[in-house]
Amino acid sequence: MLEIDYNKCDRLRGCSAAKACPVQAMLPVGKGFLPWKVERWEFDEQKCIGCNKCVKVCPQKAIIVK
Ligand code: SF4
Repeated sequence: MLEIDYNKCDRLRGCSAAKACPVQAMLPVGKGFLPWKVERWEFDEQKCIGCNKCVKVCPQKAIIVK
């Protein structure tokens, strides 16, 4: 189970962790306060294979494995 620490996440629509996901399991939700931001990210747990690539790639270290 993955969670995002929004005190760290920069909410970029072009999130490098989302791009690194091999199965596109990180989904942008809503509009952020700027056009290039998202409101939040959701993990599609049906798709996620638990590879933790997103955790390693996130430059803000904002993705937490629970
Ligand atoms: S753990 Fe792997 S499959 Fe799951 S969201 Fe992260 S990168 Fe994608």
